[in-house]
Amino acid sequence: MACYRSSSLSFFIVALLTVLISPAISAGDSSYINPPVNVGSRSSIASYCESWRLAVETNNAGTWNVTPSKCVSSINTYYIGGQFDSDYNLVARYALAFAGKVKNRLDGKDAWVFDIDETLLSNSEYYNKAHGSATYVSKKVQAQAFDASLKLYKGLKTLNFTIILLTGRNESRRSTTEKNLWDVGYSGWEHLLMRSPEDKGKTATQYKSEQRSKMVKKGYKLHGNTGDQWSDLLGFAVATRSFKVPNPLYYIA
Ligand SMILES: [Mg+2]
Repeated sequence: MACYRSSSLSFFIVALLTVLISPAISAGDSSYINPPVNVGSRSSIASYCESWRLAVETNNAGTWNVTPSKCVSSINTYYIGGQFDSDYNLVARYALAFAGKVKNRLDGKDAWVFDIDETLLSNSEYYNKAHGSATYVSKKVQAQAFDASLKLYKGLKTLNFTIILLTGRNESRRSTTEKNLWDVGYSGWEHLLMRSPEDKGKTATQYKSEQRSKMVKKGYKLHGNTGDQWSDLLGFAVATRSFKVPNPLYYIA
């Protein structure tokens, strides 16, 4: 995936910062189950990190903060070594296979929901995960698309799905968000739902569930939902099928 390969230097810098910062955070943090003390080999650590990543993706890890410092290297390899691309591509293939079986799709009410950050757009270049929250070091530089998300998005458009974008970004970022999406190849969405002042303080799950519910009341059938966080997918007014995109970088409740 071009965007990750080109940003590998930036990613290494972020990873290095995490290595420096995370021990201070994780030392007293109960978010992680540490590996047994008698497994110190590189292969054992690598095995633990693979297990940790699986636990994150399946939501067995629950709330977590930063990537464990011992796993920063393997997570970096995961991102730039091709496995992330493979994982996301398979998600897209399953999603499109499901979408192709949805009947009708002629009245404009058959909808698919997308999250934006780390689902349609990659912010890995700008992300500072020191505190495990979505803190961007820059909001001025354009985020890149994922190859797999572009393929999925365009495939769903071809299948006549109505696209609903549902993001935790604030309304004040509407114009820059739209421009970024257009610039990297996304177009033709029906709704771009963003946090308004009245959504301040709501959890992501609550806010996104409420927005999906509004869409259902407008008559949309939410067949699919794609997001990188469980809070994009859970709650109420959930889609018929949810497709979780990998993200071992950060967690949003
Ligand atoms: Mg996201």
